[in-house]
Amino acid sequence: MRVRKRGLRLTVFTMTAVTAFLVGWTAATGTPIAINAYPGEGVANCQGWGQTEPEWDPTSHNLPFCRTDGPSVSVWASSDFGELGRENINYTVANRIHTPTNLTLGSYGKEWLGAQPIVSGAPQTDVQYFMQPISQGDLDGVTWCAVKVSGSFYQCDRSLIVLGEAHQGRVSACHELGHAIGLTHGTESTGVDVADDDPRLRCMQNPEDPIMDNFGTSNVEVINNYIL
Ligand SMILES: [Zn+2]
Repeated sequence: MRVRKRGLRLTVFTMTAVTAFLVGWTAATGTPIAINAYPGEGVANCQGWGQTEPEWDPTSHNLPFCRTDGPSVSVWASSDFGELGRENINYTVANRIHTPTNLTLGSYGKEWLGAQPIVSGAPQTDVQYFMQPISQGDLDGVTWCAVKVSGSFYQCDRSLIVLGEAHQGRVSACHELGHAIGLTHGTESTGVDVADDDPRLRCMQNPEDPIMDNFGTSNVEVINNYIL
């Protein structure tokens, strides 16, 4: 009886040790909670919409975003944004691209400082932020691929992000940047789905959580291991 008890304890101890090891191993390798990367389930094919101006067409509900076309991401922001919106875009660009993902910020041009985006030839400015009215009341922001990389199924050369006037915060800036990079919502994941409002999706939650203004470990792993 004692032996069996001891054996049971040892088994429990061993299982605990294995569990602890697996938890540590999972954290070290960073298995994402879901592969929420473009192309996901129910996401439109990457076609390059040809809509290169920031006006959002409310008749198009299946957002044609793709993946960014490489680890260097260039960003441009319109002077549409108010002072707080500009600060939030600056913060998001500075803190959510290079660290902690393997993406690097290629350049960041601000229209209010006179910068112009590259909108012809190739490569073009990867991501453009605009602030415009969005005529669908339930949308905080929208992202679409304006110009696809020629000959690529997945990649976009220039994506447009439009944030609604009431959504100039860091969460929306992060969420739409995620789409421009190639992240989907949870239920659009490939294979294992998670709920759109799973808090582990951080700024990619839908609807957005007002304090989740970063990608978090799962999205970072998806960017580093499945998009790049
Ligand atoms: Zn979204």
